[in-house]
Amino acid sequence: MKRQKVCWKITTRCNQNCKYCFGFTNIEELNYNDNEKVIDHLANSGVTDITWTGGEAVLYPRLNELIKKAKEKGMRNKLVTNGIYLSQNDNEYTKDILDNLDYLNISIASTSNATNKALGQEENHYELVKNLLEKLKDKNVKVTINTVVTKKNIGELDELGEFLNNYKIDNWKFLKFMPVRERAFINKEEFEIAEEDIEKRVGSLRNFENIRNVRYKKQKEFEKSIVMLSNADIVITENGVDRCLGNALEQEKIDFEKSCLIDKVKVLITYDDEKTTEDIVKTINNIDYAEVVGVSVNTEDTLNKIVKLKPTMVFAKYDVNGINGLDIAKKAGETLSKWKMPVFNILDSENRITEDSIDELANVSKTIGTKLNSLVRKPYNDKIVNIIKDYMENRY
Ligand code: SF4
Repeated sequence: MKRQKVCWKITTRCNQNCKYCFGFTNIEELNYNDNEKVIDHLANSGVTDITWTGGEAVLYPRLNELIKKAKEKGMRNKLVTNGIYLSQNDNEYTKDILDNLDYLNISIASTSNATNKALGQEENHYELVKNLLEKLKDKNVKVTINTVVTKKNIGELDELGEFLNNYKIDNWKFLKFMPVRERAFINKEEFEIAEEDIEKRVGSLRNFENIRNVRYKKQKEFEKSIVMLSNADIVITENGVDRCLGNALEQEKIDFEKSCLIDKVKVLITYDDEKTTEDIVKTINNIDYAEVVGVSVNTEDTLNKIVKLKPTMVFAKYDVNGINGLDIAKKAGETLSKWKMPVFNILDSENRITEDSIDELANVSKTIGTKLNSLVRKPYNDKIVNIIKDYMENRY
């Protein structure tokens, strides 16, 4: 049986403030009833394994009940945690969680409190993890330790291994610090380390008899995971760029295999002349790796179709029904979250784009991120083909 795994970031709230954190932040959280529906939809879609994570997943109220529901549906449950709440609390809620998990991943970077503090964690992180590992001794759950490797802790892995060797550890997994998204990106200089250095360091660790597997998970492998955000958006990351595959609350069934394999550039066209639209549709549909997912003729229609059809790219006419295509891009930037924003290209039908408009394009790009791509003057077709080809090759 093929296993289909989903890593569910049930909340973006966290009780820790790691400086290497590359998690998503401030994403809307669904209520309990909606999340029950999401579990039904995941089960319909053939999901066999859920990894509960965040933020700190245990901060989501009634997580214990969701884990139990997933278990009843035949799914395996793994929880990734910083360990703080589970270590500090012994109550029905924590007991329920620990009793229904198949796997538990605990994050710790060092046994040195000074290093943990420098990484942005609470000062007694080592003691908290130690307390949790003691509690787990009589539980039937497989324990993995996650260690993010940075310049700060690469020299302290032997000591960490000696400590972990006092417990029964199924996996000790090393993850490269990844300078993606806000906090981690800002701290790139302070923490980043080369993959070869980590591989060499991990390879030279002594053999720990109580740690079954020691392995280094490369950034590329990390990106292969299918992630579901707290609003049920399903996202995969390619070369540091997030791509949305659908929404597990809105869709009763998701074809994960198809969504991940078909890597076509999905295009939406906003144009108010039927003949030209037809021509562009034909040109794009002739490209093997691209498809037109929709056409629209005004701002509202475009915004609705961006939300519904999730195009990767939009070609919008500069002046469509009296509305400037740049304004449509601006509006999209205001209304949509970052990973839902497609790449915008503005089609200039009558050579109306002036130097000022090009400056405006640069300003709009700054406002909405790097998602505004090109101004395209007539004749369109060859230029559109080249833009899509360039996008496929570089995936900006
Ligand atoms: S790395 Fe994990 S524990 Fe640390 S702040 Fe981010 S979500 Fe919280």
